[in-house]
This record gives sequence, C-alpha cells and structure tokens, in this order.
Amino acid sequence: MMAEEQAGAPQVAGKKPVKNKYDYTNGPAPLNINLSWCKACNICIAFCPTQVFEPDRDGKPVIARAADCIQCAICWEHCPDFAITSNYK
Ligand code: SF4
Ligand code: SF4
Repeated sequence: MMAEEQAGAPQVAGKKPVKNKYDYTNGPAPLNINLSWCKACNICIAFCPTQVFEPDRDGKPVIARAADCIQCAICWEHCPDFAITSNYK
C-alpha cells in the first residue's frame, strides 16, 4: 500500500485516494437532503465522485458514507429539485 492510500480515504474513480479536509466527526452531517422534494432521479447518487450515497428502497439517496463527502458541490448543483444543501458551504 502506498503512503497516500489511507484506509477510509475517499476514493474518486480512476484517481488516487484523496485526503478529505472535512472532518464530520464532531459536527453536523455533511449534507441535508429534503426527501419530500426528492423525486428519486438518481442524479446525485450517480454523479457523486466518492460514492457517498446509496439508494433507499424508493430510490432516494441515503448518506451511506458521510466521511467520504469532499463538499465538491456536484450533488446539490445538479439536483433538479434543490433537495440537497450543504451544512458546510
Ligand atoms: S458534495 Fe455531494 S457529490 Fe460531492 S462528495 Fe459530497 S455527496 Fe458527493
Ligand atoms: S438529485 Fe435530487 S431529486 Fe434526484 S435523487 Fe438526488 S436528491 Fe433526489
């Protein structure tokens, strides 16, 4: 294992693991998801570069790997229903 390949470090597909400058251990969750606005389009789940989300039984996103969220903004900028907001931006 190379030095930068730390266990638990977010993995962006096709790239080396990145060190996450955000630590959610003592703070709020990285994101808020308004599930009443979400229409389960799958965009956030598909586009997240570090695979933070998993779909629930209705296809709506669940924050499954919060520690891997790098606050890249892709999910909330692409959500057509403005259902995702960041607690850190
Ligand atoms: S901001 Fe959204 S798309 Fe970016 S890493 Fe976090 S959950 Fe994934
Ligand atoms: S992009 Fe928005 S509407 Fe689509 S699944 Fe994600 S939260 Fe729901």
